[in-house]
Amino acid sequence: MSVKPLVEARGVSKHFAAGARLFSGGRGVVRAVDGIDLGISPGETIGIVGESGSGKSTLGRLLLRLIDPTTGTVSFDGRDLSTLAGKELRALRRRMQIIFQDPYASLNPRMRVGRAIGEGLVVHGLAARSEMKDRVLALMERVGLSADAYDRYPHEFSGGQRQRIGVARAIALRPEFIVADEPVSALDVSIQAQIINLLLSLREEQRIAFAFISHDLRVVEHVSDRVAVMYLGRVVEIATAPDLYAEPMHPYTKALLSAVPRIGRHAEGDRRVVLSGDVPSPIDPPPGCPFHPRCPIAEPRCKTEVPVLIEKAAGHSAACHLV
Ligand code: SF4
Repeated sequence: MSVKPLVEARGVSKHFAAGARLFSGGRGVVRAVDGIDLGISPGETIGIVGESGSGKSTLGRLLLRLIDPTTGTVSFDGRDLSTLAGKELRALRRRMQIIFQDPYASLNPRMRVGRAIGEGLVVHGLAARSEMKDRVLALMERVGLSADAYDRYPHEFSGGQRQRIGVARAIALRPEFIVADEPVSALDVSIQAQIINLLLSLREEQRIAFAFISHDLRVVEHVSDRVAVMYLGRVVEIATAPDLYAEPMHPYTKALLSAVPRIGRHAEGDRRVVLSGDVPSPIDPPPGCPFHPRCPIAEPRCKTEVPVLIEKAAGHSAACHLV
């Protein structure tokens, strides 16, 4: 029996108006996310990978309804988020949190760390103000911050400690779903491992579902149950992490994996696939398969026919005419 998704995106797109176009004088549309279907089960971690500009951070924000989709729906625990407002939306928001790449940007520099972590507890009625300090100190201890951090300000901490503050804030409200948007990419490698291990142990303890967004394929392999590969706003391949890393199907995934030392040995019998050119502009994506200008095996129909994401093996889908 399949598990009901905790978070579900159906046909979700997000288009932004771009600035005036140089020659036409008209305004373009950036198709940041374009028709994505995705379900995340309770306790599941789905890694979302792709180059810069692939739309992965926009998708993360759509899943939390931090931004509204242009078309499609996002549901949490069976409820369409677009139909909720006020108290109902706030109640669901408590159950969904985000961890940013740069937690400093999301912390009020004039607010002491203890209050920054604990304010949500009081706002959501999960703790009386008199209980807040004890609850926050317990959270701080859980994420590896010493008690003397309670009365200090964010600027007094290193990058790794600030990310621990970000994690403490995210888990304070006992969420069931967290979007972690490049949570370790700004940190030194040794600190990255500490934060990843912290997130993994919290996931086990509290059965939190994660959307783990990263351009680092090694980190994503380590943390994810399933992995979705994005290119120009679309999911081009999705599979369990072991299947995707051992048997990548889409030429884009193969190219990404072959560029990663150690993982590359799995792709295409050790052959390195070099991607030519840059990611095309999402304002004017190529017709047909959006990957065709860079694809090493493109054929004529790839320039006109859009490949659909289709299940090619059990639990393993790809959007490519030649898979
Ligand atoms: Fe390459 Fe064609 Fe497949 Fe697109 S559809 S990935 S261009 S082979």
